[in-house]
Amino acid sequence: MTNTRKTGTICVQAGWQPKTGEPRVLPIYQSTTFKYDTTAQMADLFDLKSEGYFYTRLQNPTNDAVAAKITELEGGVAGMLTSSGQAASFYSVFNICEAGDHFVSSKNIYGGTYNLFLITMKKLGIECTMVDNEASEEEIAKAFRPNTKCVFAETIANPSCNVLDIEKFARIAHSHGVPLIIDNTFATPINCRPFEFGADIVIHSTTKYMDGHALTVGGAVVDSGNFNWDDYADKFPGLTKPDPSYHGLAYSKAFGKKAYITKATAQLMRDLGSIQSPENAFLLNIGLETLHLRVPKHCENAQKVAEYLASNDKIAWINYSGLPSNKYYGLAQKQFNGGRSCGVMSFGIKGGREESIKFMDNLKFIAMVTHVADARSCVLHPASHTHRQLSDEQLLAAGVQPDLIRLSVGIEDVSDILEDIEQALKTI
Ligand SMILES: *Cc1c(COP(=O)(O)O)cnc(C)c1O
Repeated sequence: MTNTRKTGTICVQAGWQPKTGEPRVLPIYQSTTFKYDTTAQMADLFDLKSEGYFYTRLQNPTNDAVAAKITELEGGVAGMLTSSGQAASFYSVFNICEAGDHFVSSKNIYGGTYNLFLITMKKLGIECTMVDNEASEEEIAKAFRPNTKCVFAETIANPSCNVLDIEKFARIAHSHGVPLIIDNTFATPINCRPFEFGADIVIHSTTKYMDGHALTVGGAVVDSGNFNWDDYADKFPGLTKPDPSYHGLAYSKAFGKKAYITKATAQLMRDLGSIQSPENAFLLNIGLETLHLRVPKHCENAQKVAEYLASNDKIAWINYSGLPSNKYYGLAQKQFNGGRSCGVMSFGIKGGREESIKFMDNLKFIAMVTHVADARSCVLHPASHTHRQLSDEQLLAAGVQPDLIRLSVGIEDVSDILEDIEQALKTI
């Protein structure tokens, strides 16, 4: 594999590399297990002394081919698929945090991640402090403690659509000797490659644009290989000190730049088992083959819809970084390929929550679904749906106004999308 080929070529060609006479198309390795001739061969696999497949809970060739494609798209050195985006977020942090540890997260994150970090991880003894993306570096630095192990944030926040200054967050994380983990789900590597701005690890909910057709739930974790764990050996003993569950092997010594993903596979997948099914990975791969065609189309349609909404007097506010009047416009121009962000935007209708709900109920083909970022246009009201568990106070803390409508613009003909929005606005 070369790092110089272009994104479109990677989408189509990367991952599965058939040898002479093998299937041209990525096969579904629908097998839990793999055969070996001798006891010694299998023993070496269990000791991580040789590479190979033995049980699909740890690794499967179909999954690995798709993980390799996503890894190349992001410009990383190693990657893995997970059963969902939630599993990817959890693994990315849990791979370096244990009971007694602490991490820092942007408060502008997906509702599921918010619950995971503040409620479920707390039950495991891992504490999270949420910070405001817009706060000064000095202010954010106050969230750090001696036991802080990483920083987490989303490139484009779901659902607020706020854009993260990745370089600023990387600077803060690195000045505290910890890696920056970025959830790049909304931007996708077509529009943004966070490693180029200093992020160390990228995660995805592949359920969204990567799959693109709302077929399969899945996730991915990719490592840039840039964070040197041995520089902070005492802070990351799980990566730098002997692992008693692998006969005293130390990941950073044995696997170098691939230490983080090898540990996540050998330890977390082995013990927690959040694997993606090979059949889902196969479907995800078909989605990835057109990612470079679909994402620009989503953005092109969304730009027209955002411009229409911004000029409509029934709209109270709109957040889409493609609008020159948006406060993230400059950042989007700098960080995103061609300034394109994604097909998702957030806005509110004058009159507040009630009017926003009425607008959504009156849409015709733009459906109300608990999904985002697939081929079909859809809307969601986070305060009544995905973020329902959050109090009004938590909603505002997560950057979600009660009247916020999340509109995910699909790849239908944009004139039909605009017509549906227009007729629904007329009813309020
Ligand atoms: C959907 C989503 C997740 C969670 O992913 P699942 O695949 O639904 O588990 C995480 N982060 C972002 C930004 C998302 O949009």
